[in-house]
Amino acid sequence: MLTATQARTRWDAVVVGAGHNGLTAGAVLARAGLATLVLERRDVPGGCCVTEEIAPGCRASTTSYIASMLRPEVIGELRLGRHGLRSCAPGTAWSTGSPRTGR
Ligand SMILES: Cc1cc2nc3c(=O)[nH]c(=O)nc-3n(C[C@H](O)[C@H](O)[C@H](O)COP(=O)(O)OP(=O)(O)OC[C@H]3O[C@@H](n4cnc5c(N)ncnc54)[C@H](O)[C@@H]3O)c2cc1C
Repeated sequence: MLTATQARTRWDAVVVGAGHNGLTAGAVLARAGLATLVLERRDVPGGCCVTEEIAPGCRASTTSYIASMLRPEVIGELRLGRHGLRSCAPGTAWSTGSPRTGR
């Protein structure tokens, strides 16, 4: 849902989908000085790389299980560590697959 301000603004670039590729593209475009809008149909950004509550009190990645596709160059260039990115080993093994997403 766009705010009134967002709806009135002209955008140089519109990215559809706020998975990590959309977010990376949006960040790169914005850093290049373009007024950039990233649209996401869900109420949470991250695409396949989100942590969600899959059962009361149990949070897990609902799709991806290891951060192998997020390139180190992107992590460094966008200074994701300063924005809170941290890696940790999962404490418990699980298999992923979501009836909601079908993936
Ligand atoms: C089952 C499974 C397991 C995986 N495991 C791993 C793993 O362990 N490690 C790993 O590195 N990679 C894994 N991958 C691959 C990884 O998930 C993808 O490479 C990555 O998610 C691609 O990112 P993306 O931003 O392109 O797309 P996505 O993460 O799919 O994000 C796309 C986003 O676009 C949104 N969207 C789509 N259509 C619209 C629309 N019309 N309007 C608005 N928003 C829209 C979606 O809601 C979503 O948030 C896995 C993939 C699958 C399917």
